[in-house]
Amino acid sequence: MLFEKLGLIVPLQEAVTELGYTKPTPVQNKVIPLVLEGKDVMATAQTGTGKTAAYALPLLQILAKKTQKSTTKKVVRALILVPTRELASQVNLNVQEYGKNLELTIGAIYGGVKFTPQVKKLEKGIDVLIATPGRLLEHIKLDNVDLSRVEMLVFDEADRILDMGFWDEVETLLSLLPKKRQTLLFSVGVSKSVKRLSEVSLKKPVTVAI
Ligand code: AMP
Repeated sequence: MLFEKLGLIVPLQEAVTELGYTKPTPVQNKVIPLVLEGKDVMATAQTGTGKTAAYALPLLQILAKKTQKSTTKKVVRALILVPTRELASQVNLNVQEYGKNLELTIGAIYGGVKFTPQVKKLEKGIDVLIATPGRLLEHIKLDNVDLSRVEMLVFDEADRILDMGFWDEVETLLSLLPKKRQTLLFSVGVSKSVKRLSEVSLKKPVTVAI
């Protein structure tokens, strides 16, 4: 199976080809068509399986196909929640590469660095925001970001997000997002709390296990 067979548009095919990806990994083969169909997905996959591209490529395609770009002040269209600043930074780099041929703005906010550059980035509106829950909530309290128009939500390493004690933050974030949205949950394992999170955040999810 090749990337074009999965239904990905040419700008995305070209971006992955430039990165030296010749064919999709198993998680990409399963997840990409489901996301493009608009399904909620719950996937268990280890790091290193290509899970970032599995959610990011179809997410970018869906956003790019709808014309409205997020130039509205503080508005975010897709939110990718990650447990740590290291992962936020890595996912940001990957998504920037996947989206380089598209006119979408992509950025990350996480703790341990200054607020001001993040505030400036959020102010302009951002299509794809990668964030750690704690820092994102701090920006919300300061009214620096508007999540009321999020179309897509991704939990990356959901089990680690919850293991780190972010349940309350995640619940608050969920209460601020539109009910009508597409949600994808990636986790290494399915603990009780991950199951609970899937119940409160996903609608009729398709389950994928790698
Ligand atoms: P991830 O599991 O998303 O952290 O990806 C692990 C590594 O695999 C990263 O360095 C990706 O750039 C790489 N990768 C992802 N998808 C593919 C693919 N289809 N072919 C080759 N490498 C890939």
